[in-house]
Amino acid sequence: MTSQKNLGKATQAIHAGEARASSTQKTGMPLLPPIYQNSTFRFATAAECAEAFRDEESGYVYTRWGNPTQEVLEQKLAVLEAGEAALATASGMGAVSTALLTALAEGGHVVAMENLYSATFQILNEELPRFGIETTFVDATDPTQIAHAIRSDTKVLYLESPTNPLLKLVDLQAAAEIAKAHGVISMIDNTFATPCGQQPITFGIDVVVHSMTKYMSGSGAVIAGAIIGQKEFVVRAKEGALRNFGAVISPLNAWLTLHGLTTLPLRFARHSENATRVAAFLEGHPAMAWVRHPSLPSHPQHELAKRQMDAFGGMITLELKGGRAAGEHLVDHLQLCSLAVSLGDVRTLICHPASTTHSHVPAEIRRQTGITDGLVRISIGLEDAEDIIADLGQALEACTP
Ligand SMILES: *Cc1c(COP(=O)(O)O)cnc(C)c1O
Repeated sequence: MTSQKNLGKATQAIHAGEARASSTQKTGMPLLPPIYQNSTFRFATAAECAEAFRDEESGYVYTRWGNPTQEVLEQKLAVLEAGEAALATASGMGAVSTALLTALAEGGHVVAMENLYSATFQILNEELPRFGIETTFVDATDPTQIAHAIRSDTKVLYLESPTNPLLKLVDLQAAAEIAKAHGVISMIDNTFATPCGQQPITFGIDVVVHSMTKYMSGSGAVIAGAIIGQKEFVVRAKEGALRNFGAVISPLNAWLTLHGLTTLPLRFARHSENATRVAAFLEGHPAMAWVRHPSLPSHPQHELAKRQMDAFGGMITLELKGGRAAGEHLVDHLQLCSLAVSLGDVRTLICHPASTTHSHVPAEIRRQTGITDGLVRISIGLEDAEDIIADLGQALEACTP
């Protein structure tokens, strides 16, 4: 495992964790890690079984406690995110909730970025307050706001970078230093960047969470999540909140995600390259009020992006001059790109938040949080960039005022 840390990302993505996947006694090992589609495991003797209950490292007992397929995935995740250990979960929200429940106790306080993924915001704003846990939301693009919001009872600093959907960035090193200085656990949702876009643990962040539903599995076939961090935290999450609240990944989803990860470095490089080309095209288009992608020099934090990101990712957000009518027109006229929520798929996906995901939010609140009527979010896929540009171009033609 230690030597795997020195390998390139593409090599790590394919080989990390997989060596111990076979238990066959014969020569000729399965090239792909097999799927152990088992809920439970059999023991030869009472002594063996008792030992597995006493020392969990010594054997598998029951899939909610641990499963060989899930473990191969977890070892790959730890290497890719440069963490000590990892935990796979049933969904991204399973990872977010398990990580928060592990780090928090009654009456604790959280400092969180504003404009978080909506379900994460609801956990912090509606669920945790029922247990006496309060959250202060800040504009974490300014590290001094993080420092000002930390109190003596603050337990967690919760971040996203780049954020959804406005692609704001947080200076990870500055944020991690502030958290450390106050004895606060720093946590980041790295779904948009993946470990191929940035490795937050290398900047001093304590815990990384993922929705592996997106780029990590990449297929659009799986709901899955992950937690990566120090071994002590991961073991506490595994033996406590994950096992008892039960957001455990199924062997099939672990296996599908495992194989998705083997091509993550190739896919993420292509997503980033395609998005950089599409963003440049869109920024020159007369229908645009503005276009945001970390690759663009017009991104307010372009210098920070160059400093802390290895690749800029596949998400583009734009504002159409023609407002809501133009946004609806654009998504109605697509021929190649698909109108769908989610992201990180091989296919290009577009959504118009004002008429869909955020339609229940009052217009005034949408405006305050930057979800304007002409805002469109695009998850650039792995098609040829020219074809994505041509499809957007023809759909935009009639939007031009
Ligand atoms: C999708 C998403 C989640 C939630 O993940 P699920 O797999 O749907 O539970 C959390 N954070 C971000 C940034 C996401 O995009």
